[in-house]
Formats: sequence, structure tokens, C-alpha cells
Amino acid sequence: MRPLTVITCECCRLRQQVRGSIGDERRVDMCAMCFEHRGADNGMTQRRRTEHDAMLRERLVRAEQLTQSAYSERDRARQRMLAAFQSRDSAFSILKTVNDLHEFRRDGSCSCGVKRDCKTAAVVYRGWVQAMIRRLDDAEAEQRDE
Ligand SMILES: [Zn+2]
Ligand SMILES: [Zn+2]
Ligand SMILES: [Zn+2]
Repeated sequence: MRPLTVITCECCRLRQQVRGSIGDERRVDMCAMCFEHRGADNGMTQRRRTEHDAMLRERLVRAEQLTQSAYSERDRARQRMLAAFQSRDSAFSILKTVNDLHEFRRDGSCSCGVKRDCKTAAVVYRGWVQAMIRRLDDAEAEQRDE
């Protein structure tokens, strides 16, 4: 079996997949469909026109379907992203609220009222939590700027 190659057909001018490659002993410059309707008599000329019409129409339909499915795939991806953002945002907001409620004071007590070693404050003061809260603040500032 010869390998598949893509050519621009001499006859229909469409890009077509053909068996065999350009440059081999049986040079391929026509697609299989066009090979069938080659010839110069009136019957063939007519047939060529009809078949080219059908080929073009088929190409258009396929291109449209591809565009459609690309669109709906993109829409689904956008929906998933929005949902992820929303749940992430609310998780961040909760974290931020907790952060605002538990602030260590100079004397080691916490703004929530716990005099010593507030366990919640200890959690929110971890580096990665602070980094997340900063990111949330930045995102909010960006939204306000828009
Ligand atoms: Zn062709
Ligand atoms: Zn043709
Ligand atoms: Zn606290």
C-alpha cells in the first residue's frame, strides 16, 4: 500500500489525500474522483462539472460542521472555566474573611479575641495562604480597573 499524501488536485483544485507521492514513478496530480472523470468529450465535461459541484458542496458542509463543533467545544471549555473560577473565588473569599477576622496583634493576641496562639490565625498566616489572598486581592483590583 502506498502512503497517503496530500496534493492539490490538477482537476478539481481541492486539496485531496491520494495514495502515492509526488515524485514517485507514477506521479499523482489528480485525486481518485477526478481520475474517474478525466477526458475531453462532452459527456465527461458535463460529469466533471456536476461532480465538482458536489465535491465543493461536501467540503463546505464539512468545514461548517468542523467550525460548529470547534465552537461548542470552546463554549464547553469556557463554561468549565467559569465554574472553576466561581468556586475558586468563593473559597478565596472565605479565606480572606477568615484572614480579616484573625489578625495577630503586637502582644501576641488575635483580633478575634483569643489571647494567645490563635489556631486559626496560625493557619491563615502560612505563606501559601497569604500568597493566595494576595492573588485574590490583585484579581479584585484588576476587575475594578476594567
Ligand atoms: Zn480532484
Ligand atoms: Zn475533477
Ligand atoms: Zn483568631
